[in-house]
Amino acid sequence: MIIQEDCSLKPYNTFHLAARCRRMVMVEHPDEVLELADKGVFQSQFYILGGGSNVLFTQDFSGTIVHPAFVGIERVGEDKDSVQLRVAAGEEWADLLDYCLKNELYGLENLIGIPGLVGSAPVQNIGAYGVEVKDCIERVEGVLLDSREHFNFSNDHCRFGYRDSVFKHELKGKAFITFVTFRLAKESRYVLTYKALANELERRGWQPSLHNIASCITDVRNSKLPDITRIGCAGSFFKNPVVTREEYEELLGRVPDLVSYPAPDGRVKLAAGQLIEKAGWKGRRLGDAGVYDKQALVLVNYGDATPAEIVNVCRQVIWDVEDKFGVTLSPEVNIL
Ligand SMILES: Cc1cc2nc3c(=O)[nH]c(=O)nc-3n(C[C@H](O)[C@H](O)[C@H](O)COP(=O)(O)OP(=O)(O)OC[C@H]3O[C@@H](n4cnc5c(N)ncnc54)[C@H](O)[C@@H]3O)c2cc1C
Repeated sequence: MIIQEDCSLKPYNTFHLAARCRRMVMVEHPDEVLELADKGVFQSQFYILGGGSNVLFTQDFSGTIVHPAFVGIERVGEDKDSVQLRVAAGEEWADLLDYCLKNELYGLENLIGIPGLVGSAPVQNIGAYGVEVKDCIERVEGVLLDSREHFNFSNDHCRFGYRDSVFKHELKGKAFITFVTFRLAKESRYVLTYKALANELERRGWQPSLHNIASCITDVRNSKLPDITRIGCAGSFFKNPVVTREEYEELLGRVPDLVSYPAPDGRVKLAAGQLIEKAGWKGRRLGDAGVYDKQALVLVNYGDATPAEIVNVCRQVIWDVEDKFGVTLSPEVNIL
């Protein structure tokens, strides 16, 4: 493992905020997680940081940042319809997608372009264009940091939900994910329910194929989301709020073009981006912090924003949306 003291976190968060941490440990082999547990690292302040694309550091971190840096994609099983891949937590999500495209494995293609590492994907059950990663996850392995036991959870055990899993609840900060096993199909099973994707394929006159879908999604994402090498952000900053049918109908009376999607238990999911836009925040900028002009769900650092400036924009957006629509937005991003 590699240990660095007093380390800048700027290269390790896609908001590009200049926070520092007291110590950073790069874990180069999964067995080192137990070694760190034995040394008591997880008994004092720590944070497991993947690619830092879903975090907002509001201040310096006075504990230890633990970063999975071990990689590898292993084919561990195969039948006539599918292939099982066991992938190390430190593998880049983008490299797993490349592997799937090269090997004609189906299931994750709609999730192309999401930054971050494989070990983080189950934590918030990443999703895009009508697909959630839970649809392809078979098992999640790791170490329970209190008992130091190895775990090997089935998909059901992970209790996946919309941007949610057991790793955000009972096991928040208590489990270090080391490997994720995916089951991927050998034959196509495209999900084209998302209108922007279907429209883009039609506009190009393309038939659905693994490579065509990946190419359309990449271009649609690039047209809507900032290039994180230039503009700092953490993707969608807020979750889409889920309201009761009564709340939805009351709001629909006031906002006739309200965008909505069915949610479990008869509830209704609203589009946070639409509410933010209607509250007048799309493209608004306070200093170097603001709301992206092409996608109102994304808060951005245009250059030298301080954490306080990003937090200020976040608070004001929440207040204004609540004031105007009576809907409370909650951040999808982990705020530290
Ligand atoms: C431009 C952009 C676009 C995005 N688009 C999408 C999108 O379409 N859909 C979507 O769902 N998300 C999206 N995201 C959010 C983000 O990319 C995902 O949530 C991603 O999975 C985070 O990966 P990461 O490695 O950067 O995680 P980090 O931000 O480093 O960590 C995220 C969480 O996972 C925990 N964690 C990380 N590794 C481990 C581990 N090994 N064991 C236990 N816990 C761990 C962390 O403690 C933290 O709570 C986007 C972000 C950006 C910047």
